[in-house]
Amino acid sequence: MTYALVLNSGSSSIKFQILDPSADASAEPLVSGLVEQIGEPQGTIAIKIRGEKVTSELPVPDHSAGLEMAFAILAEHGVGPHDVHVSAVGHRVVHGGKVFSHPEIITDQVVDMIQDLIPLAPLHNPANIDGIKVAREMLPDIPHVAVFDTGFFADMPPAAALYAINAEVAGANGVRRYGFHGTSHEFVSQQVPALLGKDSSEVNQITLHLGNGASCSAVKGGHAIDTSMGMTPLAGLVMGTRSGDIDPGIIFHLYRTAGLSIDEIDTMLNRQSGIRGLSGVNDFRALREMIDNGDTDAWSAYNIYIHQLRRYIGSYMIALGRVDAITFTAGVGENAKFVREDALAGLEMYGIKIDPERNDLPNDGARLISTDDSTIKVFVVPTNEELAIAQKATLLAKG
Ligand code: ADP
Repeated sequence: MTYALVLNSGSSSIKFQILDPSADASAEPLVSGLVEQIGEPQGTIAIKIRGEKVTSELPVPDHSAGLEMAFAILAEHGVGPHDVHVSAVGHRVVHGGKVFSHPEIITDQVVDMIQDLIPLAPLHNPANIDGIKVAREMLPDIPHVAVFDTGFFADMPPAAALYAINAEVAGANGVRRYGFHGTSHEFVSQQVPALLGKDSSEVNQITLHLGNGASCSAVKGGHAIDTSMGMTPLAGLVMGTRSGDIDPGIIFHLYRTAGLSIDEIDTMLNRQSGIRGLSGVNDFRALREMIDNGDTDAWSAYNIYIHQLRRYIGSYMIALGRVDAITFTAGVGENAKFVREDALAGLEMYGIKIDPERNDLPNDGARLISTDDSTIKVFVVPTNEELAIAQKATLLAKG
């Protein structure tokens, strides 16, 4: 049995899993853990080992200490990276810019190149680099692989990737659509051809990753031809706390007229907008409860969310010309049947018909939720970004 370690380092957290890359997408990982509140007076390390939970509350001064403490707990339980012969370490890296379209074995030069991309992802790449540096020091004998959130979109056609802003300014500052959640869109879209009984090269599809962050992609013959997130993950669909697409003029207005600073506007659009900014909550379970209790703000937030989602679905149907499948994934997409129903309601004339009984089935693996006579098939395919990263890292590490 060979295992992979997958690391996702944030500015104050490290998420990790040790898992079998050949396992089924629904299989429990051997280990999954979260180190939180790094750098704060009190930190938390919560690890699930073969389904059993181990939690410690203690100060975690930095990423290096966090990973060391987590590995010590794993070693006590006999599941440290060396105990279980981890053969590859996969790192989730948010921004690969124009340079990284595929996963890369991490060398000092690759670290420098990811560092050069910090201006494009000032909040994410530095934390990813911290995690890479610490893990390479602790596990120098195991190959480390960077898997980029933007990778799946690196080859999008220029018509979809470029913005109609001044070309000189855009070119000098790396302004273009990069897209995010690529590992998830790729993982999910790769499963659809088999569900349709077709070859990937023949399949045109729309994938809807609806989690706390949300994005939508048009995929033709296995290649992304458009996606809703942009130069940053703020663009596109309405999300849990992000606005999605807005008129960029709103930013000038808030700066000039309302006297908000650029940082305040940034925080407001990324953290205090979307479903939360409209209703007060960002979890769809809480939103649904509020709607059921007659809360009009929650109802309005939901309608804005669905309206924007349908806009994107419509525009990708036109971009693709012919659509074989529409697939829902991530927390909301996999669990909120009402979102799936409302996103595709009344589209029978376009060949889309959801089967209410199939849509009602619990979230248990990839499944068809459209009727047999729906010409566009609608699926729910659970995403598993850690497994996708583990598979990519293992493949590359093998050489
Ligand atoms: P992230 O973007 O943080 O990875 P996830 O893909 O895990 O997010 O999705 C988290 C979101 O999924 C929650 O905020 C919640 O809105 C939604 N969600 C999770 N479970 C359910 C459920 N049973 N019913 C409705 N919504 C759910």
